Amino acid sequence: MSAPVVIVGTGLAGYNLAREFRKLDRETPLLLITADDGRSYSKPMLSTGFAKNKDADGLSMAEPGAMAEQLNAEVRTHTRISGIDPGHQQLWIGEEAVPYRDLVLACGAEVIRVPVPGDADDAIFSINDLEDYARFRAAAAGKQRVLLLGAGLIGCEFANDLTLGGYQVELVAPCEQVMPGLLHPAAAAAVQAALEGLGARFHLGPVLASLNHQGDGLEAHLSNGTLINCDLVLSAVGLRPRINLAAAAGLVVNRGVVVDRQLRTNRANIYALGDCAEVDGINLLYVMPLMTCARALAQTLAGNPTAVSYGPMPVTVKTPVCPLVVSPPPHGLQGEWSIEGSGADIKALCHDSSGALLGYALTGAAVQDKLNLNKRLPALLA
Ligand SMILES: Cc1cc2nc3c(=O)[nH]c(=O)nc-3n(C[C@H](O)[C@H](O)[C@H](O)COP(=O)(O)OP(=O)(O)OC[C@H]3O[C@@H](n4cnc5c(N)ncnc54)[C@H](O)[C@@H]3O)c2cc1C
Repeated sequence: MSAPVVIVGTGLAGYNLAREFRKLDRETPLLLITADDGRSYSKPMLSTGFAKNKDADGLSMAEPGAMAEQLNAEVRTHTRISGIDPGHQQLWIGEEAVPYRDLVLACGAEVIRVPVPGDADDAIFSINDLEDYARFRAAAAGKQRVLLLGAGLIGCEFANDLTLGGYQVELVAPCEQVMPGLLHPAAAAAVQAALEGLGARFHLGPVLASLNHQGDGLEAHLSNGTLINCDLVLSAVGLRPRINLAAAAGLVVNRGVVVDRQLRTNRANIYALGDCAEVDGINLLYVMPLMTCARALAQTLAGNPTAVSYGPMPVTVKTPVCPLVVSPPPHGLQGEWSIEGSGADIKALCHDSSGALLGYALTGAAVQDKLNLNKRLPALLA
């Protein structure tokens, strides 16, 4: 039998690529390899599960066996690839060599862990896949107080979701505003105020200096002297693309695995997409770009080399207490911000010197302008 197309990862990137490829090619052997349990799920739903009262099984959309059948593929679960040998067109799973016709890295991003002094490391959780979510839900059952680390997009989504789920949330982050780098301060203030209105408490500026078990709960000391009593900690301080295997195999890496507009690495027959990939200089940790890449790469793998292009990629943040859509100006472009609206309804627009729209942040009622504004946004990869 000829060597299969091998996809490493069964996240949205891996499974969507497999689906797109099967629309074009039903026959070529296809092998998907994943370190996790291989269930198909939509990762964005992980930060909506408490409000919807859905556990991990409730968020799972299909078992790996059903996916294998649907995709006419083999799916190897709980299997971690340990090396890539581009010279011999094979990868390693421990001692086992697996040949590939084409290899696609769709291995995602990993959570950044910050060491915290004290004896309660075991009480710090992060949620970056369905199994993490199941562990966190089990630990949070019967508990009330969650300390959240990180005020980025994911931290804010969890703050909203856990508060709606009945938890008392204290959010700690060293930045001055929520979603720094992504959001204009006026829009950030609107989101923070809405989350506070729900009952979440913010400690912006300090870091978590120590965490210790104390009786049935935990004692968290912040660097500004504040003491917080809580039951468990959810860390959402950021993600970084998984690049180690690629780097060890001599693939060019930067922030992510470096690929061109055809999603090709510097080695023949090896491609990357999704959170692990840096496409023509851009590493975006969102669903819309990976879907666009999956369609282009499926064409390339089916024998029709196709370059990817990105239109505007606005991000809808799942903070239902304060609807938020944001499209930051493309990297390297500077503009002037203007702010309209007040309170929860903010329209922050960024224009260049010729008056062209570069980006926006819309909150509350202002999100209804997004469709009109999207038509004027620049493409990210024309
Ligand atoms: C809580 C949360 C909410 C989000 N909300 C949104 C949203 O609203 N909108 C949006 O656009 N984006 C959102 N995102 C981001 C979006 O979910 C990701 O961009 C997307 O899911 C990434 O998919 P992926 O397939 O590239 O990576 P992943 O889903 O991380 O998949 C990586 C796969 O690689 C496997 N793997 C890794 N290393 C190995 C190895 N050595 N061997 C074998 N397998 C390996 C893993 O097991 C896994 O199957 C959210 C992310 C989170 C965490």
